[in-house]
Amino acid sequence: MDDLAPLFDRAARVAADHRAALGEASVAARVSAAELRQQVDGRLRQEPTPPGDVLDELVRSFEPGLVGTPGPRFFGFVIGGALPAASAADLVAVGWDQCAFNATLSPAAAVAEDVAGSWLKDLLGLPGGATVGFVTGAQGANTVSLATARHHVLAGAGWDVERDGLAGAPRVRVVASVERHATIDRALRLLGFGTAVVEEVAADSQGAIDVDDLTAVLARSAAGPTIVCLQAGNVNTGACDDLRAACAVAREHGAWVHVDGAFGLWAGASAARAHLVDGVELADSWACDGHKWLNVPYDCGFAICAHAEVHASSLSYTAAYLTGQGGPMPTLGDLVPESSRKARGFAVWAALRELGRDGVTDLVERCCTLAQRFADGLAAGGAEVVNDVVLNQVLVGFGGDERTDAVVAAVQREGTCWLGATTWHGRRLMRVSVSNWSTTEADVDRSVAAILRLAAVLPDQ
Ligand SMILES: *Cc1c(COP(=O)(O)O)cnc(C)c1O
Repeated sequence: MDDLAPLFDRAARVAADHRAALGEASVAARVSAAELRQQVDGRLRQEPTPPGDVLDELVRSFEPGLVGTPGPRFFGFVIGGALPAASAADLVAVGWDQCAFNATLSPAAAVAEDVAGSWLKDLLGLPGGATVGFVTGAQGANTVSLATARHHVLAGAGWDVERDGLAGAPRVRVVASVERHATIDRALRLLGFGTAVVEEVAADSQGAIDVDDLTAVLARSAAGPTIVCLQAGNVNTGACDDLRAACAVAREHGAWVHVDGAFGLWAGASAARAHLVDGVELADSWACDGHKWLNVPYDCGFAICAHAEVHASSLSYTAAYLTGQGGPMPTLGDLVPESSRKARGFAVWAALRELGRDGVTDLVERCCTLAQRFADGLAAGGAEVVNDVVLNQVLVGFGGDERTDAVVAAVQREGTCWLGATTWHGRRLMRVSVSNWSTTEADVDRSVAAILRLAAVLPDQ
């Protein structure tokens, strides 16, 4: 093969220069997608192009459309920025170009996922015997987890859903709060349940499940195949369901309990916040993200299951599991819906090595403290903080809906920081999420000042 070092060195230099500029660059993209489409050469060329020229053209073409999401002042959605060692590991992983299909194709990929998966379970307070599927994100993890739940509750009713499908199957109850994340609904659509199956449970003022209402909903019909979806970390407020109480109620009904903890599960890694996810180990399956709070590169999430056999039975394509005859301990390819896929374990391994146990705790606690600082700063400037800031999420109002939307739009245009708007209990609100390892107090203070300055020049409503 040609010596790839000059090309790869240049690529690494582009990446490093981009990261170095994030601290001061405008967070917003310089052009819209529509503008970029006009600028980018859309012709498929007949002739080949040398790799170095391709790299130059790639950077020149797309760089104006980059958003400062990995930077310290991006507070929209729930977005992490890849840690240095995790980023480097992903660069190396691309060079290694491994297929994480199974341990024969890549012992390295298999062992990295195994080791990183053990560390994850340890940090999150989950059972050591649980299986961890490395998927694309919490959407993938929710889908995998609900597939395992579907397998288990229907097997309990004498139905083989992998062989016979859902047509004619015993009815499965899916019980979830009104505050569930939209990815739960998409998973239900993909798995053939449909969204109308959901029996909705009320939530409290912060978005955590109302356990009394959960009890009432579960008591409404006789025991049968039942899945209960809980949540750790409401995407708007950060609120976590009372997992201990909710799991106890669900157990009385023989339900499978799934916890969507895309970012909230990380509370378990901090002694100061672990009470928020007390009882998390009592569930059957969990969805968690790598690319949000752990700050590993996209795309990375974890589908974790307390029952290895169930996990493999619903996902594996080796016959041993599908016919219920078991097999060796399931590994990477038995735990995800993909066949060939990227080796995600290297970046997760590297992130956890870089941080260590202390660094993970510090990351979680620092983001929570900075979220509180954000809330205090905005409140001191006359804005209304609407939620109890228990984790890394803050909801803020600036008067009426239109004024709040106008403040968010002005902030997005101005570029000091980036935040989005959300609708919460019928109100338009600014949503702040502090999830990035590199955010400092100075970044928060500078962002608060910019937001208040922009809000001050908008008319009251
Ligand atoms: C972000 C999020 C998801 C979806 O995660 P992706 O990584 O975007 O697939 C699911 N549930 C919750 C609570 C989330 O915050």
